[in-house]
Amino acid sequence: MKIAILGFGKSGKSVLDALLEKKQDEVFVFDDSKLPEKPNFFGGESAKLFFEMDFDLVVVSPGIPKHHPFIKYAKEKNMNIISELEFGFRLAKCKIIAVTGTNGKSTTVKLIYNILKKSGKKALMCGNYGLPLTKAAKVSSLLDYLVVEVSSFQLEFIDTFKPYIAIILNITQDHLSWHGSFEEYTKTKLKIAKNLTNDEYLIRNLDENYTVNAPNVIGFSAVKEDAQAKITQKNVIINFGKHFEIENTKLIGMHNMQNIAAASLACLICEIPKDTIKEVAMNQETLPHRLEYVCEIEGVKFYNDSKSTNIDSVRKAIESFENKQNIVVILGGKHKGESYANLMDLLTQVAGVVVFGEDRGKILSELHKLKPIPLPAVNVKGAVIAAFHIAKPGDIVLFSPGGSSFDQFKNFEERGEAFRAECLSFKEEYDKAPRL
Ligand code: ADP
Repeated sequence: MKIAILGFGKSGKSVLDALLEKKQDEVFVFDDSKLPEKPNFFGGESAKLFFEMDFDLVVVSPGIPKHHPFIKYAKEKNMNIISELEFGFRLAKCKIIAVTGTNGKSTTVKLIYNILKKSGKKALMCGNYGLPLTKAAKVSSLLDYLVVEVSSFQLEFIDTFKPYIAIILNITQDHLSWHGSFEEYTKTKLKIAKNLTNDEYLIRNLDENYTVNAPNVIGFSAVKEDAQAKITQKNVIINFGKHFEIENTKLIGMHNMQNIAAASLACLICEIPKDTIKEVAMNQETLPHRLEYVCEIEGVKFYNDSKSTNIDSVRKAIESFENKQNIVVILGGKHKGESYANLMDLLTQVAGVVVFGEDRGKILSELHKLKPIPLPAVNVKGAVIAAFHIAKPGDIVLFSPGGSSFDQFKNFEERGEAFRAECLSFKEEYDKAPRL
């Protein structure tokens, strides 16, 4: 077969390795950025050659937008297009647990993985979390499960992808510039369930308003008494073959109870004992940059939620704390389309708001009705100082930007590290300064 790999990041590389190992196909690599000088590698300017060629199969890396000219052309020419997820699935030799959703994927993948590991199962985390599925699939004959974090970008081009357990944590507005509309985005997320048969399971949030056809649907809910997992702000009550409660968890907030509920139901399907599920779920720490405690300065506690890159994750972060009137929220970053005014119901209850970054003007104008008026800050340092000035002892400064990090940083990790560094250096200076 004549195969094109679009995008040469870690996913594209793992596809190339897998194909080279098979030695059956003629493989070409295309990328908008420059590539090493090798036969059949076309990067930068030379990638335009793609538009003069024809392929039996096109494998798309997650970073290539669906409106990219490569894809448009491949569609026009009726080429067979698949994502790296589909490619990796075809190689996998063990059961797959696939987790998608707007928010909470990484946290849930980690929880499931830790529970499986604790119970003695052999598992690997992959997909958006760490290794590409294609790479993990190489060792999958030695495993019981692959726990895959699945983005909607990857679901766009699946065909036969059929996990043993599919999880849709939540579907809220995000990535609208990629998918065009909320309806399109929802449709893409639901593809995770499209091939499920009687032997597979779908776990979903029963409080969300979409219909999906799958034979074995189980779910979690905050309102439905007959849900297989009932969640509240502080606990999860499981009622799925076994009946038990998970409470006193280190992960906080209703959103994390959703993640715990989904992970617990998945592990019950895998016949993991309830005590193992409970123990791991209770002791799981938050992942870095997700509502992570940083330090305390003069009675003010600082939390880093840099992974919050959409409006819903800001909402969930604020709702995680009992007393909203004690929170000073730092918003900002690169605006992603959904208006920050959608947070007005919560922002009117908090102690104060600081807005930083490139799009602060736009965010401030969306919040022009808010009292007290949010404080602007150019960067993270300014935001930390401004937030501390608003806060009183006993308050919380919550860094949950809601925008992406690309205005001033490489990624959310770098932004979170910057926040942590600014908090710690401010603390050091503050502690050294003479007391009043
Ligand atoms: P993802 O991998 O889907 O981006 P993460 O687990 O990394 O999800 O969390 C991303 C952000 O969303 C963090 O700010 C986190 O606090 C918040 N979050 C985590 N779980 C949920 C959930 N179930 N619903 C809404 N927000 C969530």
